Amino acid sequence: MEFNTRLLHGDGRKRYQDGATVPPIAQVSAFAYDQAEDLEKIFNNRAPGFAYTRISNPTVDAFERRIAGLEQGKGAIACSSGMSAITLSLLNILRAGDEIIAGSGLFGGTIDLFSDMEEFGITTRFVHHVTAEEVEPLINDKTKVIFGEIIGNPGLDIMDIRSVSNLAHSHGIPLIVDGTTATPYLLRPFEYGADIVIHSSSKYINGGGNSVSGIIIDSGKFPWDYDKYEQLKPYQKYGEFAYLAKLRNGIWRNMGVCLSPMNAFMNLVGLESLGLRMERICSNARQLAAALEALEGISVNYPGLPGNPYARLVQSQLGGKAGGILTLRAGSRERAYRLMNHLKYACNATNIGDIRTLVIHPASTIYIHNTEEQKEAAGVYEDTIRVSVGIEDIQDLIQDFTEAVQAL
Ligand SMILES: *Cc1c(COP(=O)(O)O)cnc(C)c1O
Repeated sequence: MEFNTRLLHGDGRKRYQDGATVPPIAQVSAFAYDQAEDLEKIFNNRAPGFAYTRISNPTVDAFERRIAGLEQGKGAIACSSGMSAITLSLLNILRAGDEIIAGSGLFGGTIDLFSDMEEFGITTRFVHHVTAEEVEPLINDKTKVIFGEIIGNPGLDIMDIRSVSNLAHSHGIPLIVDGTTATPYLLRPFEYGADIVIHSSSKYINGGGNSVSGIIIDSGKFPWDYDKYEQLKPYQKYGEFAYLAKLRNGIWRNMGVCLSPMNAFMNLVGLESLGLRMERICSNARQLAAALEALEGISVNYPGLPGNPYARLVQSQLGGKAGGILTLRAGSRERAYRLMNHLKYACNATNIGDIRTLVIHPASTIYIHNTEEQKEAAGVYEDTIRVSVGIEDIQDLIQDFTEAVQAL
């Protein structure tokens, strides 16, 4: 099955309640059973079924299955946000004294999270770019996870997943990737050796900018050393499901960062057009970047432009498509603001992956809590504008941005 067909028919001839073509919204907290014995069995994982929406819910379950299928993973667990997905994907296997190796150009919220984790004894060692060469010297006995974004937001550096996962595996360490900006449409990270994928499904997966959520997907292929990752040991009997079983029965359900059924439904509806949207968004981003590159007074970063240092990886790993984000540098903060304020169509909003074109000045917003050094590592300068390209007609977008640049 090809991608778009899989989006619609990936779960076979599955019919939902009353023949519904889309999973209905099970907007309830609890599920009632006639017999006390029935609920006992469900609580003890001895019978399938739903008890309480924090633990499982049919609409959320349908969303998890769709995403696990798209990523070709063993299973998926949905969370209330991308940030909670990142947090729990890590806490499931980390404890005080452990170290993470991560790219310094990460999403601002993730960098903030890693500094929060210091309070709990979990340290992150940062590399400028997540490459095998930069990561290897930082690996030691305490390193338990390597974490990076496939396409950095907003740095737009691209991880060579195959070479980083080879290195990680040679040291018995799993590679967790944030696939938010790449989406399952541009690549399936498990095919390149990633072990666990997280998405902020608030972005391209939802597509309409109408629900915050996240999801964790496990390939089930990482050969856990149960002496090194001792907390997984009680779940060893689940084999390839050990990581997911621990997460679902442990910190995920106990922290209570469940996805609401309504938001799962909005994601399911949005997801069905992911392929179509990404096709259009990538094509718009490439054309807009090329048009803006030709203008005086600004510079453009887009991995899909010829001459970009990641152009080869875009071909070999992303099927020639470089995603929907580009960044501009306007020369000064004042010029960046003037450019943004002149735009007719782009909304000034802190989000990406919407069908609408969005712009933001990251230095004064998302990265306001980060140090100058962290900002620079993420490609965030005083004059940087991040553009999340939407599905508008490209002529209109090019005209709007061109007029805004000329007005400078
Ligand atoms: C938005 C985003 C997150 C955080 O996701 P939320 O759903 O906002 O919590 C994490 N990583 C990347 C790359 C993002 O763009």
